[in-house]
Amino acid sequence: MKSIEDLGDLTGKRVLIRCDFNVPLEGETITDDGRIRAALPTLTALRQAGAKIIVMAHLGRPKGQVNPKYSLAPVAKRLGELIGAEVKLATDVVGPSAAETVAELGAGDIALLENVRYEPGEESKDETERQALAAKYAALADVFVSDGFGVVHRKQASVYDVAKLLPSAAGYLVAKEVEILKRLTIDPARPYVVVLGGAKVADKLAVIENLLKTADTLIIGGGMAYTFLKSQGYEVGQSILDPDKVEAVKGYVQTAAAMGKKLLLPTDTIVAKEFDNDSPQRVVPSDQIPADHQGLDIGPSSAEAFAAEIKGAKTIFWNGPMGVFEMPNFARGTLAVAKALAETDGYSVIGGGDSAAAVRQLGFADDQFGHISTGGGASLEYLEGKELPGLAVLEENN
Ligand code: ADP
Ligand code: MG
Repeated sequence: MKSIEDLGDLTGKRVLIRCDFNVPLEGETITDDGRIRAALPTLTALRQAGAKIIVMAHLGRPKGQVNPKYSLAPVAKRLGELIGAEVKLATDVVGPSAAETVAELGAGDIALLENVRYEPGEESKDETERQALAAKYAALADVFVSDGFGVVHRKQASVYDVAKLLPSAAGYLVAKEVEILKRLTIDPARPYVVVLGGAKVADKLAVIENLLKTADTLIIGGGMAYTFLKSQGYEVGQSILDPDKVEAVKGYVQTAAAMGKKLLLPTDTIVAKEFDNDSPQRVVPSDQIPADHQGLDIGPSSAEAFAAEIKGAKTIFWNGPMGVFEMPNFARGTLAVAKALAETDGYSVIGGGDSAAAVRQLGFADDQFGHISTGGGASLEYLEGKELPGLAVLEENN
């Protein structure tokens, strides 16, 4: 992959950069600005190089429609505060406001285009539609920098197609993330433990088969665990479940056993009737979840067992909270795992927007871990050994 340095002298050049600013919001307040901070090294370097910087980013899922709820205004404000300069926000993506905002940029200035997912072409499966939008992005700039690691697994106009139209390079964040994840795919120090949880069950189940090949131990918690428990014939009550994947998951459990890999499921579960912090909770063995209850966290025995495994590991990758950590009464499992990751002598990598937010929300500092990746899906797909379109395009191009 080319680096920013390979793009030559950027003084006065218009540099279009894709960042991942998909931050968690409560109203207009950003509850975790980690992804914005992660973009600062590249943005600062471009400013110092005298570039005119045009940032593309998305927020949430506006699905091709303009929707003020997903405006990047809070991001523009926060980025401006962090970088110590005004960040001009265009009111559209590739319309008159974008053109005008870019035309007014001086050397070292930063503009942010509105949410790229306001444009139906951004995520379109139709290549010509995406390319048409990418051509409009490209018309705004001289070169392209890809620095949104959280989206490099997406074949989208601002990630993939635009890189084919301009001289392109990887930003420092993308370069760093790839370098670190490479360590986990090429000869990781063993035992290598992968901890999976969270709620995007369908997405994440797909990676398990491949992870089983590289990892020594797989730990399953969070919303993902119930599909596993169900596959073992247990009642999971009202817990989050992917019924279409139960059979496949049963296969993973058998594969793991046949390969001699350790697979840890929660042996106890914290259940409640309602999806509510104040709903009365109790701990039950995982094969005794009442039909009218739902599992909202791993139980204390599971937390202890998972922590012990993590502390004995030399390499650990963690994606997905162990429970509904946003509710303090169901955050203990996630806290236990985060604590073990902070204490282990092994090299720990945390991936995933919510996982990163969880460790910060629970009071951990970023430097207590080996690395906190800005990408969940992207890091998982990388570890799986898949080709990521947003990286491949930087290798083959220009
Ligand atoms: P990441 O962003 O780290 O990749 P996900 O987006 O897959 O993680 O999942 C994070 C979400 O999973 C959190 O909002 C959390 O509340 C939810 N979650 C974890 N455990 C459960 C559970 N048992 N039931 C419902 N939701 C859960
Ligand atoms: Mg998430």
